[in-house]
Amino acid sequence: MSSETLSTSCVLDCPDTCSLEVTVEDGVIAKIDAAFDSGNPVTNDFICSKVRHFAKRVYHEDRLLHPMRRVGAKGSGAFTPISWDEAIEEVASRLGAIRDEHGGEAILPYYYGGSNGFMTDEFVDSIFFARLGASRLGKTICAAPTSAVAEDMYGKMAGVAFPDYVEADAILIWGANPKASNIHLIPYLREAKSRGAFIAVVDPVRQLSKDLVDLHLPVFPGADLPLALGMIDHWSKEGKLDRDFIEQHALGLEPLLKAASSWPLEKAAAEAGVDEVKLRELADRFASASRALLRCGWGLERNQNGGQAVAAVMAIPALLGKFGQRGSGFTLSNSGAGRMDDSQIWDRASWQTRVINMTELSVVLNTPPDPPIRGLFVFNCNPVATVPDQNGIIQGLSRDDLFTVVSEQVMTDTARYADIVLPATTFLEHRELKLSYGNYVVGATEPVIEPRGEARTNIALFSALGRAMGFTDEAFRWSEDDAREKIIAAIRLNGKPVSAEPLRAGKFHGYDFDGPAPIQFENVFPATPGGKIQLTPECLGERPYHYDPVRSEFPLALISPATSKTVSSTLGEFNLPELRATLHPGDAEPRGIKSGDRVRVFNELGEVMCHARVDERVRAGVVHIPKGAWMKSSLNQRVSTALTPTHVNVVAGGACFNDARVEVERLG
Ligand code: SF4
Repeated sequence: MSSETLSTSCVLDCPDTCSLEVTVEDGVIAKIDAAFDSGNPVTNDFICSKVRHFAKRVYHEDRLLHPMRRVGAKGSGAFTPISWDEAIEEVASRLGAIRDEHGGEAILPYYYGGSNGFMTDEFVDSIFFARLGASRLGKTICAAPTSAVAEDMYGKMAGVAFPDYVEADAILIWGANPKASNIHLIPYLREAKSRGAFIAVVDPVRQLSKDLVDLHLPVFPGADLPLALGMIDHWSKEGKLDRDFIEQHALGLEPLLKAASSWPLEKAAAEAGVDEVKLRELADRFASASRALLRCGWGLERNQNGGQAVAAVMAIPALLGKFGQRGSGFTLSNSGAGRMDDSQIWDRASWQTRVINMTELSVVLNTPPDPPIRGLFVFNCNPVATVPDQNGIIQGLSRDDLFTVVSEQVMTDTARYADIVLPATTFLEHRELKLSYGNYVVGATEPVIEPRGEARTNIALFSALGRAMGFTDEAFRWSEDDAREKIIAAIRLNGKPVSAEPLRAGKFHGYDFDGPAPIQFENVFPATPGGKIQLTPECLGERPYHYDPVRSEFPLALISPATSKTVSSTLGEFNLPELRATLHPGDAEPRGIKSGDRVRVFNELGEVMCHARVDERVRAGVVHIPKGAWMKSSLNQRVSTALTPTHVNVVAGGACFNDARVEVERLG
């Protein structure tokens, strides 16, 4: 038996970007573990259970091994294998015919790529769709409002590195659950706590243990904005704002303070459904800490007030002047500290077709724009499971006049609606370069096994399609090696080029911050005009910090957060077999619901039938159904997205999952 241990990196949608060691026996993955003593800044010799078991996806019975053509009704899952040559020829000719008859904009590439990197997302695929004249996609399903605020307010200034959390005196975690994603933050939180740090969490669900968290504020979904404004008003009245810092480094204070003045602490606490005494304690302890650190997550953006809420929360460190020391400041996404400048590779700005918001897929497919979408190419994405209005998306994908291609690793809920299914490689079978959005590294993967079956990389797929359609760009003739070298040459980390060796070896490349890590307003600064923090950023629109609560006849707020079981919907094929709707005892008892009961969760958009869990960790007035579940996990083939609306955030058009309002009833 041959056995070898190979280095690679985890590129899944997680801030940690771990260094991995994979043991391969006779060409088969036997074990996935942390790379020990790798020097990776945060891996610290352990990884999550999700990736430990990723081989179950690689070898799953639903793994796609060959190109296939649909032979049954859409959604039936009836396909017949075809060769890659046939598949490429058919996809190229069908897309070409749609372009010729309806125009290129009748074709929509649909992708997200949270678990992809520079090589497999928005690279050769984008060049292909640009040449086709296809519609462009607004990537709004996650992180659009936070990204817009981070850009406009701070110019995406590099955030506090996770290892520096141990230096903080107070840590405020708002809308993030490091237990589900970002588990490497937990040991740093524990160490900070052991050194005496005060740790507070704002989240509708108590996710972290009581021994770690000093204060938990179970905010009602969507009420983060009044909560943050209430704290700001309190600090303003108490003279806690750092006026000198604001004067020197920030603009746009007055509109923020004016909005905050409408939310005295008592009113803010009532609107958010939290204890006023606790809110005051949080505000006072955070403001009085010398090194105060904000971990802003993505949970608070998932509602129609989300962009405004993110801005109010992200303004906090500036208002209090909490910068300039290790362990002080904020972390949101750290991806802005690095980039891949592909302007030498292709002219991205030359692709100027219409933009379609990915959150509105069901609307676009069922209430067609002009021209209607006739060709849909889905890759790096599983919209039937993850995008709002599941019923509408299924209805749209069932259209006879829609040609749908899905490139995937396993037979997902979306792939079942494809006309042509194409088998895709996993990150253990292809090369990748991933700019982490948490850990300060670029992680590189090297294939640890041969691609299963006939699975192909995205570069191989889109370059073959480009050649088949007669496009002459050099990119469509690149090998994987060529592509990787082009990207490595274009990567800049904190403005500096990288050396290729570690990235060619499946390892990682760190940053140089003129010191071991960024210290905000000491060695990293806002990349905004004039270097000023914009406390009322333009992206907030015409009514900055305006609060608009959801009004609905349905009494309970539905949230669908990430869990430790899946990465978006990846791994849902085996790791989330039974869907549960979790309610607070105060909501369950009047409805006669006990743990284990079969329940129907419903609203005007649809219904989800599953089992109930009664748990006081979910706040009253809220139903929790996990993100990323597959149709087969529920009793009626529907998941949380069947209940989520398609309206979008005024900030960057972000998805509003947490605006879903529902009722729950026990099934007999
Ligand atoms: S998902 Fe996150 S914690 Fe798990 S191995 Fe990947 S980077 Fe590490």
